[in-house]
Amino acid sequence: MSAEELQTLTPNSNQKIQPTDLPAGFQLPPLDQVRRDAAKLVEFIRNRDDAGSDVGVPGAINCCALLPNIFAWSYYAKVEETPDDLHEGCVFALRMFVRILQEGNEASIRTMIHTSLEDFAATRLATVLSAGHKLVDYLMLPEIDRPAEALSYLKMLVEDDIRTSTPTGALPWIRRPSLYLRYAEARALSGSTNTKTKIMLEGAIEGLMQIDSLLMVEIMLLKIHLAHVHRCQNIQTADAKENELYVIKFLRKNPDLIPPNYLKQALIRPGQPERHVLTALGGLAWFDDATKQTFKMQERVMNTCVTCGGCEPQKLLFRCGGCQYNWYCSKPCQVADWKTHKSSCRAWSAERKALEALRFSDPGEFQRKTDWMKWRAGPLGANHNALFHALGLRRDSSRGRTHIIFFNTIYTPDASRDMMHKFQIDFAGVYRILM
Ligand SMILES: [Zn+2]
Ligand SMILES: [Zn+2]
Repeated sequence: MSAEELQTLTPNSNQKIQPTDLPAGFQLPPLDQVRRDAAKLVEFIRNRDDAGSDVGVPGAINCCALLPNIFAWSYYAKVEETPDDLHEGCVFALRMFVRILQEGNEASIRTMIHTSLEDFAATRLATVLSAGHKLVDYLMLPEIDRPAEALSYLKMLVEDDIRTSTPTGALPWIRRPSLYLRYAEARALSGSTNTKTKIMLEGAIEGLMQIDSLLMVEIMLLKIHLAHVHRCQNIQTADAKENELYVIKFLRKNPDLIPPNYLKQALIRPGQPERHVLTALGGLAWFDDATKQTFKMQERVMNTCVTCGGCEPQKLLFRCGGCQYNWYCSKPCQVADWKTHKSSCRAWSAERKALEALRFSDPGEFQRKTDWMKWRAGPLGANHNALFHALGLRRDSSRGRTHIIFFNTIYTPDASRDMMHKFQIDFAGVYRILM
């Protein structure tokens, strides 16, 4: 799209950004309109970038007025709720929006954001900070992965935080862990391994531990970066060695706890020296194995304590000794469930005993039934989430009483040594129970 074509679009003046209070009944623009605007914006920027020319503030203001849907979406919608195909459009829109707020004159900014006369400076600042936060979140997504660019906006956010915080207050990363976590991460991802990055990473870890030591994924990612900084700076203290060893052991045991795209983003940085943690794990090949889901891995992720819902790796779970079916995190949790579990526990135990009798009389059948019980009790999507969705329980939980799922399985013992593949579903259907 050319600048001339852009001019031919009809601007909608009723789409100013509301920086703080949303009007009652506010709704995000419809996705099809957002997509249409995003496509035009992306095309426009790409054409400009090819020519090596900068859109400039007037061009940005123009885009904002003419393609209001993508601007509104990028500012209001949550990053995690934005479809992947809109990421680039949101980055372009937010980048333009921040630039207008930073460099535009008062009159032009007033055409885009709702602000009263006296609150102009404060509103402008609040809006640019909140747009900056959003932009950083997009730029740091593994699919976008532009940490150096994120860093320039993070500097603005950190400067503002330092300027506005009370001087007697706590350390910055204890005061605002979410901001300094981002800052430390962006520094590390963009290849900085200096002392300031080390201090920021240590601070961010400390800040997160104060909120909740169970923020395992975030803490592990920071520890991975810290191990790299230690290596680059040749720091060989006991703490540094312990940190690296902990990271390697943890990833070996829980290769699937961190989503693979985030793990890859942290461990493999194009144009940067290889992370020692990755070398120790076995290099790139480790990734393929690590992302291959096994029955045991799924079991660890999906199983929860029947009583309290606790799960690994935060809590260590054990099976009910009677039925080998229910999982618990502690004796008290098991005792609390016993009244409910008693009858099914006895039925399942009886089933196991009956099976034992087959062990010598019919080894083939014994194996098949043993596999079946394990597979059925297992953590497979087919046995849990898929059934939940197939029944439409999220829509209407009463369907659990009116509908049943029937599925037929085939025993495929030689397909793989992994329990996950011992059975395959060759037919499944949802049926309404006639009453
Ligand atoms: Zn429990
Ligand atoms: Zn039991």
